[in-house]
Amino acid sequence: MTHLLHRAANAVMPVAVAGEGIELIDADGRRYIDASGGAAVSCLGHGHPDVIAALHAQLDRLAYAHTGFFTSEPAEELARLLVAKAPQGLTRAYLVSGGSEAVEAALKMARQHFVEIGQPQRRHVVARRQSYHGNTLGALAAGGNEWRRAQFRPLLIETHHVDPCFAYRFQEPGESDEAYAARAAQAVEDKILELGSDEVMAFVAETVVGATAGAVPPVADYLKRVRAICDRYGVLLILDEVMCGMGRTGTLHACEQDAVSPDLMTIAKGLGGGYQPIGAVLLSEKIFESFARGSGFFQHGHTYMGHPTAAAAAVAVQTVIERDRLLDNVVAMGDRLRRRLEERFGDAPHVGDVRGRGLFVGVEIVEDRAAKTPFDPALKLHAHVKREAMARGLMVYPMGGTVDGVRGDHVLLAPPFIVTETEIDEIVVRLGDAV
Ligand code: PMP
Repeated sequence: MTHLLHRAANAVMPVAVAGEGIELIDADGRRYIDASGGAAVSCLGHGHPDVIAALHAQLDRLAYAHTGFFTSEPAEELARLLVAKAPQGLTRAYLVSGGSEAVEAALKMARQHFVEIGQPQRRHVVARRQSYHGNTLGALAAGGNEWRRAQFRPLLIETHHVDPCFAYRFQEPGESDEAYAARAAQAVEDKILELGSDEVMAFVAETVVGATAGAVPPVADYLKRVRAICDRYGVLLILDEVMCGMGRTGTLHACEQDAVSPDLMTIAKGLGGGYQPIGAVLLSEKIFESFARGSGFFQHGHTYMGHPTAAAAAVAVQTVIERDRLLDNVVAMGDRLRRRLEERFGDAPHVGDVRGRGLFVGVEIVEDRAAKTPFDPALKLHAHVKREAMARGLMVYPMGGTVDGVRGDHVLLAPPFIVTETEIDEIVVRLGDAV
């Protein structure tokens, strides 16, 4: 019997006891290729000696200092490093302990910014229906997945959702990418106008939609159009790169590939690579200045924010990625992964789509390949694929069922950046067998 409440109340889980490179090892000695990086977390794989050494060194010096009394060397170093490579205009970093905390902080920064500059009527948040922003109440409100929200609805702040994200099924037959981008951006503008353009504070979106839709990148120019719309109405653009950021798509930030900079950006997961819980908000000088000139502080905070060992782990992870030029490997191995998946599933009756950027790849499972008809959600095909993959020593991240009227099943692949050609090929063989 377990005394632990798992995600599934009666879950029987293998016990993970060790990690080595891209593999996890359970108590029975079974090995699993971590082809999902957990949930796009373990970018350096497991047991990386340089990160462990950095953690040991930091623990020997200082484990914790409350940010109400002190700053610390690792926290300062991490902020410096993040700002040096941030999207244009983002000049400050706020360190928290994970993705949901980062989203909560970003939403509150947006709100406080408008209060500080004398626009307290700006309060509405616009987001997309096919999105996940976290499980705390503010982040859950921002996410559009009705299944996750339903029972907590009375506790959620009002958020206004628009369609579509860019899963292929939303594109009209014969619609060009340009027309599709324009239509999707128009939905954002229409919602802002409907709510009152001077009453909206922020539009929040994942740059590449992760868990909910399965690594769906935006159509070209969509984010540029959205950026222009936000600027036109004075609305802040929040990009959530908790899952798709920190190198996962082949550039440090996914939005670099769209040539767009947000006003606020959230990062987590790959930031600490799973070695410590850490997340961050990167914010513009304009927002920072409004706090500095106004009440003098951001009215928020958590006990563990800017934690020295968490920051030291993140500095080590990011230093290794740069030193070993791992983003080059993300691009090369990402290309190979998609190519191999397309070869393997080229005529598979139940694979409808392979998509993504870098080592952030979604495989869509459908009942009918040609018509792209999804399976009955009650069958939970994604969960079956996950189980079959685990039985073959492969971790893939499943999602599916009904997401706001959008039926579909997919699995997400997000292997560590250190993955090799042979390992990519093995991942595809095992996933092929599982599907
Ligand atoms: N935003 C996005 C885009 C995510 O994918 C996630 C986690 N899957 C979160 C926020 C929440 O992060 P966390 O689970 O660390 O709270």
